[in-house]
Amino acid sequence: MTSVDPFEVAVQQLERASQFMEISEEALEFLKRPQRILEVSIPVEMDNGDVKTFTGFRVQYNWARGPTKGGIRYHPEETLSTVKALAAWMTWKTSALDLPYGGGKGGIICNPKEMSDRELERLSRGYIRAIYDVINPYTDVPAPDVYTNPKIMAWMMDEYETLASRKVPAFGIITGKPLSIGGSLGRIDATSRGAAYTVREAAKALGMNLSGSTIAVQGYGNAGYYMAKIMHDEYGMKVVAVSDSKGGIYSENGINPDEVLKWKKEHGSVKDYPGAENISNEELLELEVDVLAPSAIENVITGNNADKIKAKIVAEVANGPVTPEADEVLRQNGILQIPDFVCNAGGVTVSYFEWVQNITGYYWSLEEIHEKLDKKMTKAFHETYKISKEKDIHMRDAAYVLAVERVYRAMLDRGWVKK
Ligand code: GLU
Repeated sequence: MTSVDPFEVAVQQLERASQFMEISEEALEFLKRPQRILEVSIPVEMDNGDVKTFTGFRVQYNWARGPTKGGIRYHPEETLSTVKALAAWMTWKTSALDLPYGGGKGGIICNPKEMSDRELERLSRGYIRAIYDVINPYTDVPAPDVYTNPKIMAWMMDEYETLASRKVPAFGIITGKPLSIGGSLGRIDATSRGAAYTVREAAKALGMNLSGSTIAVQGYGNAGYYMAKIMHDEYGMKVVAVSDSKGGIYSENGINPDEVLKWKKEHGSVKDYPGAENISNEELLELEVDVLAPSAIENVITGNNADKIKAKIVAEVANGPVTPEADEVLRQNGILQIPDFVCNAGGVTVSYFEWVQNITGYYWSLEEIHEKLDKKMTKAFHETYKISKEKDIHMRDAAYVLAVERVYRAMLDRGWVKK
């Protein structure tokens, strides 16, 4: 089986796609590595008085197109390889959406589910102290990701502003903040709303009517829940299955996403939800549905299960859910994939809107945010789809062509590479 080391996957994808674009060997060599990697140790006083030292990372992958941008993950199995891969994907994501940013990512090896709020606050503030020298609203702008949220962004921003002893400019150091301190309307469900726009466009391209069609959503964190909710409430889709890290549920007649969220909050998982059958995460992926939305973590559709995927559209709401080996199988089986860094770019797009509002100090309405997000997502989807049709290549390769060529152009114009 092909290796599923995340950074190797990212490099393989880039190498593979490079055959479909005009790019020099020297530029490709540069793009296969991050511009800067920082590893830090963060001592945290735990509630029992003991000090525990955590390891954190910040990778600034490429800043040819602007300040690096990307989230911070809290995960017990975090690795530098994962953070590097995610930082590379952020570079392609901001470029595919034509945002004036490069790509970056951060991560801390920790299990937030086993930590108190006070411990998490000390860890988050400690992380900002540790990476203070390399972040700035015009250098590198973090945001939330897996197991981080607006509350954590608020602590981080507060720590940064305290260290800087000024507002720098007001709130602009980090995005995904609470509304009370510079957050943007529409940021909380932006990843899923953006993905929904791309699913709408993909369905149009296939001549599929979304209303009454079925969707299975893997993952019931922020992205998965809002994906299920938006497709159900706004597009009339039947949500037949959802899951979280503990397991999934299936109901032929469809579930109500809000009711399931209530159940998950009370019982710690979507599992055992009354009126639905328990299924495993693997079973969820293999269901006969119109749309499958892997919305949790990387490497869930691999060479082992790709030929069992029956969905017509795979919307990659998570980062890196499909391995290169699986890509090949899905392509052969005629499944339309909306590649991750296009599909889930709604989050960083509204982060960009948040940052623009912060640095100008002028705030927009929710309608404006939705309209601008729709335009950006729809454009990126169609640009990708058009390249894939014109060159007769896979959607992921097409997305790479779109994104990498822009980064390459910026590197040439800066004189970083000569050809
Ligand atoms: N973590 C999100 C992503 O992977 C958002 C990043 C951001 O808003 O900067 O796209």
